[in-house]
Amino acid sequence: MPTVSQYSESQSLDPAFFEMLHRVWGFKQLRPSQQAAIESILLHRDTVVVMPTGGGKSLCYQAPAVFRSGLTVVVSPLLALMKDQVDSLKGVGVCAVRVDSTLNADEKREAARLIKSGDARLLFVSPERLVSLEFLRFLEGVDIHTIAIDEAHCVSQWGHDFRPEYRQLGTLRNSFPNAAIHAFTATATEKVRRDIVEQLQLHRPRVLVSSFDRPNLTYRILPQTDIQTQLMEVCERHRGSGGIVYCLRRADVESITAYLSKQGYSVVGYHAGMTNEDRKNAQDAFVNEHVDIVVATVAFGMGIDRPNVRFVAHASMPKSIEHYQQETGRAGRDGLPSECVLFFTAADWITLRKITESSLMEAGASPEILHAAKKQLEEMATYCRTPICRHRALVEYFGQAYDKDNCGACDVCLGDTDEVPEAKVLAQKILSCVFRIGERFGVNYLVEVLAGSKAQEILQRKHDQLSTHGILKEIPRNQLKDWVYQLVGQDLLVIDAGEYPIVKLGPNARGVLHGDATPRLIRTVSKVRQKKQSIQIDAAVHADMQLFEELRALRRSIAQVANLPPYIVFTDNVLLEMSASRPSDKERMLAINGIGKAKLDSYGAGFLEAIHSYCTRMGVAQNVTWKSDTLSPSAPSMRLTGTKTITLPLLRQFRPFDEVAAKAGVTVSTVVGHLLEWMETESLASIDAWVPIDIQKQIIAAANVVGREKLSPIFEHLQRQVSYELIRLVLAFERQSFEHGSSVS
Ligand code: ADP
Ligand code: ZN
Repeated sequence: MPTVSQYSESQSLDPAFFEMLHRVWGFKQLRPSQQAAIESILLHRDTVVVMPTGGGKSLCYQAPAVFRSGLTVVVSPLLALMKDQVDSLKGVGVCAVRVDSTLNADEKREAARLIKSGDARLLFVSPERLVSLEFLRFLEGVDIHTIAIDEAHCVSQWGHDFRPEYRQLGTLRNSFPNAAIHAFTATATEKVRRDIVEQLQLHRPRVLVSSFDRPNLTYRILPQTDIQTQLMEVCERHRGSGGIVYCLRRADVESITAYLSKQGYSVVGYHAGMTNEDRKNAQDAFVNEHVDIVVATVAFGMGIDRPNVRFVAHASMPKSIEHYQQETGRAGRDGLPSECVLFFTAADWITLRKITESSLMEAGASPEILHAAKKQLEEMATYCRTPICRHRALVEYFGQAYDKDNCGACDVCLGDTDEVPEAKVLAQKILSCVFRIGERFGVNYLVEVLAGSKAQEILQRKHDQLSTHGILKEIPRNQLKDWVYQLVGQDLLVIDAGEYPIVKLGPNARGVLHGDATPRLIRTVSKVRQKKQSIQIDAAVHADMQLFEELRALRRSIAQVANLPPYIVFTDNVLLEMSASRPSDKERMLAINGIGKAKLDSYGAGFLEAIHSYCTRMGVAQNVTWKSDTLSPSAPSMRLTGTKTITLPLLRQFRPFDEVAAKAGVTVSTVVGHLLEWMETESLASIDAWVPIDIQKQIIAAANVVGREKLSPIFEHLQRQVSYELIRLVLAFERQSFEHGSSVS
């Protein structure tokens, strides 16, 4: 085992480290930020690692712990997280233990034995236990070289999840003078980072901050119109996958859960008013993939490590940009494309402001804290209503630069909303109507007047005789209401929240009424445009999605029997790669990124059997390879545009040409053209699904006679019985097989 002193600042990692990484975890490489963190950790330097959720923090302390001698102690805030990590380490054959209050006497004795004998590579404990005198005494004489502190922002009051028990971790420096301390967090603010260094008494730490951008997430912030229908559209886009819907109030959790479940979605509610047991059941059902969607108040999420959450929807605005980043961050931890949608209304923002204010006052918060909370809320609202790229705005908020002009993954860059060109005139009409009705009515009344309603109360007040009555009657009421709130968002109107909320002119109204200032109004396009990001295409192009679903079901049943969360068996990435390459033996299985020796031994046979049975049943080839041999987002692959987005996934499932042509509304020869283009980037194992073997043989035989330079002699030689498309395809396949060493049999 190499010792720490073998590493110097400039040296990169030992090849033996990568050999271990591949054997144990099945990973072919480290991500660049992991590499930097691991180098620092192996140098025995105190380190702060700031990496976004899904960045792969755990591997940064797990891999060094396995690689060298001694014990790594990991401090984690939640029992559930510790248990999952220990299970996941055991799954790859690493000896890891946890010591917590849920262990029985036998388990405790066994853990103690593994620690004392030096067999355990990692020990997971809560902060309060680690600093307790009793536990310190127990650890005396154990070779502890590293302490890793997970979710280290919990030490800071400026973080979004301050935990007093983390404060005591400051004493670790004295209790373990020889150990290096490494802090890990996804929280991006500078203030929290500085606090971590100070509180934990880190010594000349290396602070490694990765990019906070999460390119696999598509952010959308859309005006709220009919929240239930809007949420249903999101759920529908991700049917069968995991998702979280955040609401502000318990009552919303209940009504939305009821609505979605009536619409046929698999959904549970989660809020602080439920019993501990009900909450635990809801959480377990979600983690174990027995339920797809959780509708929750913000209390849900911490301690949820399910990596394949495909969407996070906000039915209401979060309290701050940090909260937004944290909550949306729960989507797509596995790096696969996922969606985060927030449905914004200024009405919610006003409610939230009131709730925040009253709850903080009740809690006796200082004016300083109250002010900070209001400012954060304001920043969040500004984020929502400012139409600049969401990825850029988030990354810049956390002080980093963003270099793409168009992220291709947010409502602004995708053009989900349209700027209303006549915004100025529209705003003037709305503002002058507010003025004419005397700044004495609520939003609904205002909208009725603008729409030209002849309701009793309007006639009685003679508001039908105002010049602004019916001035926007061609515009749907929902849209009008939304615009009123957009004007509130720009301080052109204010909502005076007395007993009845009343709309009044805001501080910026004068400028617009005088024609000096131009407000912005946006309109949501009827359906959100589908993302055309290459990252989405890569996974979809290579994988057979029907097989993927079958493998997911197998994983679920294995997990249930083993009493583990499904992702500990295999992640979605692994299943996707299996569904793409469809390996037929253990050796090829081991080539998949994320399958190490232990996983192969435990689950390999079952999955090989399932893949084989599927391929036989569906007549689908196994051992498919393609030129870029990973599913990583950066891997070059065929660009899918236009009808190829329809044809390619079907071709991937080896559907017949006429079916593909009909579904995509193109000719068979176009479909074959797409297939040929695909074959330029991937080598197919077989084209038997499209061309019967005897026809393939006839074409090759004809080509051997008349040559391959032109197609027409082959066509004629076969007495015009075989189409040009098939001839072209067989020759292309022959060429490819020649290059790749297999042959048409
Ligand atoms: P974090 O704790 O930063 O949110 P995790 O440690 O949960 O992130 O890792 C996120 C996902 O990335 C996990 O599914 C993990 O298996 C995967 N992962 C981590 N490192 C690598 C790597 N080097 N290669 C491939 N996958 C990785
Ligand atoms: Zn963008």
